[in-house]
Amino acid sequence: MLLEVEDLSVNYGPIEAIRNINFTVEEGSVATLIGANGAGKSTTLKTISGLLKTRTGRVVFDGKDITNMAPYVRVKLGISQSPEGRGIFPGMTVRENLDMGAYVRTDRKTPAYQEDVDRALTLFPRLEERIDQIAGTMSGGEQQMLAIGRALMARPRLILLDEPSMGLAPKLIQQIFSIITEINNQGTTVLLVEQNAAQALKRADTAHVLSTGEITQSGTGAELAGDASIQEAYLGGAV
Ligand code: ATP
Repeated sequence: MLLEVEDLSVNYGPIEAIRNINFTVEEGSVATLIGANGAGKSTTLKTISGLLKTRTGRVVFDGKDITNMAPYVRVKLGISQSPEGRGIFPGMTVRENLDMGAYVRTDRKTPAYQEDVDRALTLFPRLEERIDQIAGTMSGGEQQMLAIGRALMARPRLILLDEPSMGLAPKLIQQIFSIITEINNQGTTVLLVEQNAAQALKRADTAHVLSTGEITQSGTGAELAGDASIQEAYLGGAV
């Protein structure tokens, strides 16, 4: 297993955001966490990337216990996150944002680094057209692409995507999900958090439902998409 989350609980002061969460992500797969607002999806991702401390439990990456490791160490090990709400550097250009994504790398002057820039720009041709544009002046969809491109610049083995479809027009949502599939096809394991359950389940090898801080259902994407209670609660009652 590339990622193992064991009995994870996280609090914000007295508020228990997630409680005894267990799941694993197999190398090469797409895993998704779906759930309503406030269910604990972002909290789970931030804990895996090291931005939040655990109250109980462990996070194991590629067999190593990373529970108490600093975020940048986790990036070096191969975990990279595209945050919710994009979180790009608005005053920097597209190129500078991509470079920031590679801050833990020491090979920036090498062809391997340039290959990764090219890979990000091939996945997102819009970014190539706007390479010298100030990121804060780009559209929401373009900023979302930049956030994912920046996360890829760390050359992750596992990419954590927090609501990549949030606020995007339907056509762009399709495009973002196709790109996520492409990223996975190129060998990167994906852990995707989404409110757009229909799209996420379509692409997920494994899926978990988070409900007020607990995992209430797990299965393959297809199993959960076909489950009547999930259709009722998360897929608008019809698929
Ligand atoms: P959304 O889809 O709305 O982003 P989510 O499933 O990602 O929701 P989280 O953001 O993980 O949910 O929030 C889980 C719970 O923790 C919520 O009850 C939320 O109010 C609470 N919470 C999140 N961040 C903080 C914070 N910084 N301080 C206090 N409580 C927080």
